[in-house]
Amino acid sequence: GPPTHSRNSTNTLPGITEAFKANTFTNKVNLGVGAYRDDAGKPYVLPSVRTAEKRLIFKELDKEYAGITGTPAFTKAAATLAYSASSPVLDNIAITQSISGTGALRIGGAFLERFYPHSKTIYVPSPSWANHAAIFKDSRLDVKQYRYYNKETIGLDIDGLLADIKNAPPRSVFLLHACAHNPTGVDPTPEQWRTISDVVKNGGHFAFFDMAYQGFASGDTDKDAYAVRYFVEQGHQIALCQSFAKNMGLYGERVGAFSLLAASAEEKKRLDSQIKILVRPLYSNPPIGGARIATEILNDPELNTQWLSEVKGMADRIIAMRDALKGGLEECGSKLKWDHITSQIGMFCYTGLRPEQVDELANKYSIYGTRDGRISVAGLTSGNVKYVAESIHNVTKN
Ligand code: PLP
Repeated sequence: GPPTHSRNSTNTLPGITEAFKANTFTNKVNLGVGAYRDDAGKPYVLPSVRTAEKRLIFKELDKEYAGITGTPAFTKAAATLAYSASSPVLDNIAITQSISGTGALRIGGAFLERFYPHSKTIYVPSPSWANHAAIFKDSRLDVKQYRYYNKETIGLDIDGLLADIKNAPPRSVFLLHACAHNPTGVDPTPEQWRTISDVVKNGGHFAFFDMAYQGFASGDTDKDAYAVRYFVEQGHQIALCQSFAKNMGLYGERVGAFSLLAASAEEKKRLDSQIKILVRPLYSNPPIGGARIATEILNDPELNTQWLSEVKGMADRIIAMRDALKGGLEECGSKLKWDHITSQIGMFCYTGLRPEQVDELANKYSIYGTRDGRISVAGLTSGNVKYVAESIHNVTKN
C-alpha cells in the first residue's frame, strides 16, 4: 500500500498542492485543483484557442493600449454570449473588460461601494468561493451570508435561502452564482430560480451575478445562462461578472467582463462613465492578448462552433467522471447514497465526507481534497477513478 504522509491539515489549495507535490506515491491523486484537466490529468489548451493564437500572430497586430473599458469587439461579444444575441436589452448594457472574473468582482465591489446608495452590505451564499468575502471586504462592503447549502440533504436549502432574502432590508445586494456553484456544485433548478427572482424583486434587492462557468456546467452556454437571462426578462437591473478562465481555458490570460444593465440609454451612458472613473485609477486599461483570443473565437462563426463543441467536451468528461465515481462506489458495495455526485454540477463536488475522512484519504491513500469534503471532479481520470472510488469507500464504510 501507499506510504503514510504528514497530516493533510490544510484547507487551502496551495497547501494541498504542496502536500501533493511532496508525496512520492505513484498513484497519488490531486482532487484540489481549481483548473480543468484532461483524461491524462494534464492541463488542456483548447484547439480553438491554439487556432485563434496562430491567426493572431499572422495578423501582426500592434500593441497599442486598449481603451479604459477594453476592446469594444470583445465586450460586445462577451455581452452577447451572456445575455444572448436576441436580447432586447443589449444596447442598454454598460460593460467593461476586466482582469478575469476576480477583476470583474473587484470592479463590481468598487462600484457598489461608490455608487450604490441603498446598501453597503452584500449577501453571499453560505458557503461560497472563499475569495468572494475577501474581494468585497477589500471593497469596504459588509459581507453577510444567506443560507444556501443543506448538509443533511447535501442539496440546496431553498427554504432558508428564500427566507434570508425575504428578511433582508429592502434594496440589499445579493451575490448569486449563475451556474455551477463553487464549492458545492449545487444549483437551483429553473423553477427555483423563478421563485428566487420573485423574492429578490419583492424586496427591491439588487441581483449581482457571478458567472465564472458559462458552458462549463452543462456543456451548453445558453442553458447555463438561464438564471441571468430570466432575471433580465423579469426586469431586474443586474450586475454580471464573467470569466473566460474555465470555459475557454484562458486561466492565466485573465479575460473577463463586468457589466451593469441600465434602465435606459441615458442611464447606460452614466454607468459607462462611472465604470471608467473606477477603472482608470485602478489599472488604466486592461491587457489585450487574452481578449484578442476570446474575440477571435466568439466572433468567427466557424471557430465559435468548434469552441462550443470543445466546451461541451470538457463538461461531458466531467459528467462522465461523476458517473464513474458513483458507479465505482456502488460496485464496491457502498451502502451510502451517492446520488449527489451526479446531481451536482460543474467542476466541484461536495462529497459529504467529514474532515477526518478527508485526512484519512490523504494519509492512507494519497488522495487530496479540501477538508470541507470538496473534490475537483476535473482531477478524476479514467485511470484513477476506480482507485478513488475504492478509497472513498474504505474511509466511509464504517
Ligand atoms: N467566481 C467563482 C465562483 C470562481 O470559482 C472563480 C474561479 O475559481 C472566479 C469567480 C474567478 O476566477 P478568475 O479570476 O480566474 O476568472
